[in-house]
Amino acid sequence: MTIQAYGKKSDIALEKTKKLIYQIEQNISTTNPTSDVYRLNHGENISVSNDTLILAKYSLDFAKQTNGVFNPALYPITSAWGFTTEDYKVPSNEQIKELLTLTDYSKIQIDNNSIKLKTGMALDFGAVGKGYTGDQAIKLLRENGINSALLDLGGNIQVLGTKADGTKWNVGIKSPWTGKAAASIKIADKAVITSGGYERFFTADDGHEYIHIFDGKTGMPVNNGITGVTIITESGLYADALSTAMFAMGLTDATTYWKQHPDFEMIIFTENHDLYYTEGLHGELNLLADFNSVNIIHK
Ligand code: ADP
Ligand code: MG
Repeated sequence: MTIQAYGKKSDIALEKTKKLIYQIEQNISTTNPTSDVYRLNHGENISVSNDTLILAKYSLDFAKQTNGVFNPALYPITSAWGFTTEDYKVPSNEQIKELLTLTDYSKIQIDNNSIKLKTGMALDFGAVGKGYTGDQAIKLLRENGINSALLDLGGNIQVLGTKADGTKWNVGIKSPWTGKAAASIKIADKAVITSGGYERFFTADDGHEYIHIFDGKTGMPVNNGITGVTIITESGLYADALSTAMFAMGLTDATTYWKQHPDFEMIIFTENHDLYYTEGLHGELNLLADFNSVNIIHK
C-alpha cells in the first residue's frame, strides 16, 4: 500500500493512517486468531469492533440488493477451492452443493454490536475491505489537515481532493492483457477500483482457468467473458462492492443494474478485448490500448 499526502504535518497524518490501516486489518483479517472475523468464523458469538459491524451490515445489505450475487458468507466455498490457502483444487459438485447450505447470508444475526453465525458459516470481507479502508484513511487524513492525497491500496486507487497544484489526478487503469495502462482518467475526490480475473486464478488439471471472483449463488468461479471491471464513484466501499458484484453479474445484468442505480461509472473489459463504459465517462476516459470494439452503455 502506498499513500502520498500533501499538507502541513503530513508525516504525522501518514503515521496515524498507517496505524488505522493495521487496526482495520487486525479487526477483519480471516487469518489472525484474535480478529473479530476469525473469532466469528470459529464459532464465537462476540461483540465486534465498529469496522466489523459496518462491513457486516453493509455487506448484508448489498447482498440483498444484488439478490445474493454478492455474498459475504462465501468463505466455506472459496476455501474449498483453495483460494484462501493457495492450495487450489476443484471441489466436486456434491461438495459445492453441501457447502452452499452454509452460505445463506440471511441467517447471519446482528444484534446491536454483536454478530452470530450458524455453525460452519464464515464471513469474508475480501471484496470490500480495501475500499472501506480507503474511505476511513481519507477521512482521517482530512481530519488531520490533509487536503490532497493519493492512496494506492493494492490496485485500488482513491484520491482526496486534487493534486497539490490544483489539477486533477491522472489515474491509469491497468490492461488485463499487458499490465500497462489501457486507459486513464482524471479525477478528484473519487475512488477508481478494479476487480480483475487476471489478478488471482489457477489452471486445473483439465486446463480450465478458475478465478477468485465467484457467483455468490452457485459457488462457482465466474466464467462469463468478463476479465476486468473498474468502478468510479465517491465511496471506496461502494466502488469495491460494485466491482466484485458487477463482475459476477456479467455484462447484461451489470448493465441493467447500472440503469437502475446510475450513481456510479463503470468500465468493463471482456476476454475478447471489447470495452464497455457508462455514458458519464464519455470524453473523460483516455483510451491507451487497442480494443476489438468500444461501446458506450447508455441510460
Ligand atoms: P481484489 O481482491 O482483487 O481487489 P475484489 O474486490 O473483486 O478483488 O475481491 C475479490 C475477493 O472477494 C475474493 O478474493 C473473495 O474473497 C471475495 N469474493 C469473491 N466472490 C465474491 C462474491 N460473489 N461476493 C462477495 N465476495 C466475493
Ligand atoms: Mg471488490
